[in-house]
Amino acid sequence: MHDLFIQEEQLFFRTYKRLGIDIVRGEGCMLYDRGGKQYLDLFGGLAVNALGYNVPAINRVVHDQVERYMHLSNFFVQESQVKLAKKLIDATGMSRVFFTNSGTEAMEGAIKLARKWGKNGGKKVLVGLSNSFHGRTMGSLSLTERAKYREGYEPFLPNIIHVQFNDVTGLRSHIDASTLGIVFEPIQGEGGVHPITSEFAHELVTLQKEFGLLLIADEIQTGIGRTGRFLACEHFGIRPDVVILAKAIGGGLPLGAFLGNHRVAETFTYGVHGSTFGGNPVSCAAGCAVIDTILGDGLVTQAAAIGDYLVSSLNAMKEMFPRSIKVVRGLGCMIGVELTSDAQPVVDELLTRGILANCTNTTVIRLLPPYTVTRDHCDFFASTLSDILKGRGTD
Ligand SMILES: *Cc1c(COP(=O)(O)O)cnc(C)c1O
Repeated sequence: MHDLFIQEEQLFFRTYKRLGIDIVRGEGCMLYDRGGKQYLDLFGGLAVNALGYNVPAINRVVHDQVERYMHLSNFFVQESQVKLAKKLIDATGMSRVFFTNSGTEAMEGAIKLARKWGKNGGKKVLVGLSNSFHGRTMGSLSLTERAKYREGYEPFLPNIIHVQFNDVTGLRSHIDASTLGIVFEPIQGEGGVHPITSEFAHELVTLQKEFGLLLIADEIQTGIGRTGRFLACEHFGIRPDVVILAKAIGGGLPLGAFLGNHRVAETFTYGVHGSTFGGNPVSCAAGCAVIDTILGDGLVTQAAAIGDYLVSSLNAMKEMFPRSIKVVRGLGCMIGVELTSDAQPVVDELLTRGILANCTNTTVIRLLPPYTVTRDHCDFFASTLSDILKGRGTD
């Protein structure tokens, strides 16, 4: 095991800071390391493993598709792509879809779709929000606002501005007839699990009507039922024109998508956009199993219910530790526990005690559990966290 870590240090660009554990397999909400130690995984592959690990329904369709074909190219109509497209369009009410390999690539496609759509009407400025994260490629990065991700990569795409997250008047003052669209995460993920306010959501919808701009929802992290609705936009009464999905839709295989409604349905014509691997048939087969399981097993409702349970137990803990826990935010299986100090030491201690959680935006413990996480799992997390906070003696 040690050898792996040493080799990696020498071989890889140093972009990833790895955890010091060597996972050999996963089952349900649990991961197991080489020594057989068990971990409750509360960040589920950073929102990818919505159904957990070793899911028979996914494994089966992946095997079947691998034996049929793993790639054909975009000269061919492919059954698993078409089936998944139908499921996504039925679930979102959108008109058309394009499949990619990743979130950022779906975001790039959405930017291109919006630009082409706005060309004739003189609409060209995309508005992003402060504290946002939309991916690492240059277009997505131009919309991403956080300095941590942008520094050193200038210059960015022109015709992109950023306005303050949840600032209703600030937003309006930056919108005019040349505004192409507003790109937003309904709940900011990397930024620390911050939902948009209902006032801000209302203003987005008002501006969409008033200026005829596009609402472009980055649901890469929030989508596919995670927040207790198929799209998080549904919580806020927003009907986006373009929706971007990735993370959970491939069941662990690389897959992303952007979908557009009737307004943008005819914008793309033959040859104007494409991808060699986008919509890989094996990934799409897995995607079909993911959607079927989530919708067929009532997991959207389950995600909402278990999230409520976890939030209320965390809020009760906040009463006990008012000087350690600042606020608990989130919906469904996307929860942030903001501490009054650095969250990394707490996350490290959780790991030692067999629980995987993620630290984001310095002070936030982010939980992105599989939707199948149980009350027992949540209770184990709550009692462990409580014990850690008690041990720190701040409260
Ligand atoms: C993860 C994420 C992305 C980037 O997706 P990749 O697949 O890593 O390119 C973009 N936007 C949001 C909101 C995300 O959570």
